[in-house]
Amino acid sequence: MTMNDADKSTERQALRAPRGTRDVISPEVERWQAVEGAARSTFARYGFREMRTPIFEDSNVFEKGTGESSDIVQKEMYRFRDLGGHDLTLRPEGTPPVVRAYLEHNLGQSRDVARFYYIGPMFRYERPQKGRYRQFHQIGAEAFGSESAAVDAEVIDMAMTWLTDLGVGPLSLQVNSVGDHDDRPAYLRKLTAAQADLLGEMSEESRKRHEINPLRVFDSKDPRDHAVIEKLPTIIDHLSDENRAHFDEVCGYLSDWGVEHTVEPRLVRGLDYYRRTVFEITSSALGAQDALLGGGRYDGLVAEMGGEDVPGVGFAAGLERIVLALPETEAAASIDCYVVTVARDLGPHALHLMRDLRATGLRCTADFQGRSMKAQMKAANRSGAPAVAILGPDELAKGVCTVKWMESGEQREVSLDGLADDLGAALVGRQNS
Ligand code: AMP
Repeated sequence: MTMNDADKSTERQALRAPRGTRDVISPEVERWQAVEGAARSTFARYGFREMRTPIFEDSNVFEKGTGESSDIVQKEMYRFRDLGGHDLTLRPEGTPPVVRAYLEHNLGQSRDVARFYYIGPMFRYERPQKGRYRQFHQIGAEAFGSESAAVDAEVIDMAMTWLTDLGVGPLSLQVNSVGDHDDRPAYLRKLTAAQADLLGEMSEESRKRHEINPLRVFDSKDPRDHAVIEKLPTIIDHLSDENRAHFDEVCGYLSDWGVEHTVEPRLVRGLDYYRRTVFEITSSALGAQDALLGGGRYDGLVAEMGGEDVPGVGFAAGLERIVLALPETEAAASIDCYVVTVARDLGPHALHLMRDLRATGLRCTADFQGRSMKAQMKAANRSGAPAVAILGPDELAKGVCTVKWMESGEQREVSLDGLADDLGAALVGRQNS
């Protein structure tokens, strides 16, 4: 290899997307849009409005919000100093920024329940694998201001409705309660003591978690920990009467509404702020990374971040994983009509015609390279457009063009003035058939 080749190959490597990130290109991007569109319409039906927060925040937002003992803050943050020396972090999750914005803009002033959803990229320095990326996308929802179990149940129902309507592969909903300041301290003492007796059988990671946050031992994926986890006391058996009643009410609503769920006493979530209800939705359509969505109640977080004692409940779902779990569907054509010109000098007429078609809502395009008619027809075919409008000098003189329907091969002359109506009617007919 000459020096020059070596330079070129590093140059080529430097131009790849960073590890753990991916480009989303058609036809995959249309699947993303379908998931996002369904979220917007389902969430709106439950009274949620979109909130867009910055992609980076003061690092404190996550240290306080996500919690210092979480894996995210301990080892996964994209944290940097900007040129002004500010300590910033690319958001690893959506809840703390939404809480920050809720407080900054005094959105709790009216004391009404405030409901928000967000859609956007998150960043975590994790080991990439299928379904796990360093830049990934979440769709999440948060409801502030009510302790009612009805809000927990509605949020869960909204998540299930969205994923079910989308046709995501077999779903399973697990729910649990992780208690709160009433019952958790006594339970944690019991848990810590039980773990202390089992330290010899635990993985190193779980021994560390035992020190930092013993609840997180339940999260271990290490097979060595499975037997240990089976032997540990579960929080759901140690709930205060009030928390037990709250949890039973959540489950009662879900059962009433026919939302299938399983109580999973060992379900805990990887973040420090959860209190009482936690839940997770998994899909057997996925491999090892089968969690589509996770959430729970986080009463206390708003106060922790400097606000009043406002309760909250929400969830976050992984967009990439939902798309992976969607059934394969044929990509819909992205344009309705491709315009082909017989001679190069007809370009301006084609442009004019396309502007008229677009004004009526039709999607159309053409080959802008002055290529032969044969090459243009091939491009039209590749574009997937159901109709091709062919413009020739003789037709133009008569005020018509030839429309070819690609699937049937049927071809006929249509007046230029009536083309939009003609195409529109035929396309609607195709959709309905
Ligand atoms: P979390 O914010 O950790 O509770 O995760 C909520 C959801 O986001 C998970 O159920 C996944 O679907 C998704 N998710 C979390 N981390 C990643 C990641 N690194 N790559 C892709 N999706 C992720």
